[in-house]
Amino acid sequence: MNIKNKSIEILEKQKCTGCEACCQICPENAITMEYNNEGFLYPIVDHNKCTNCGLCSKICPEIGFTFDNSKNPKCYAMEAIDEIRKVSSSGGMFTILSNYVFEKGDMYAEFHLTMLGK
Ligand code: SF4
Ligand code: SF4
Repeated sequence: MNIKNKSIEILEKQKCTGCEACCQICPENAITMEYNNEGFLYPIVDHNKCTNCGLCSKICPEIGFTFDNSKNPKCYAMEAIDEIRKVSSSGGMFTILSNYVFEKGDMYAEFHLTMLGK
């Protein structure tokens, strides 16, 4: 019988960002993150544990990702204070957002960041 693979193995390896979302959501703990021979983290599925539920591929941000180009895109810019920015890789934006969430005490807040030109 030919059963369609629903796990993240359907994703082309070069598209994986190593975000670990698939590994975190797997109810069977069937996914481990391992470094490949180029030094990138990549999920490995244990077929002895996988039930082919498809949760990992549903949550993967690289599967089914679409981006609608717009002639008039909204554009936002920000910059953290020097103290934060000097130890950050992208202007300190995430530090500012996470500090805001912790100050609010809202553990259920989510960040939805759309990165252009990743
Ligand atoms: S298909 Fe389901 S059980 Fe298999 S690796 Fe993905 S989340 Fe885990
Ligand atoms: S969720 Fe997708 S992009 Fe993230 S580690 Fe898993 S396969 Fe890679």
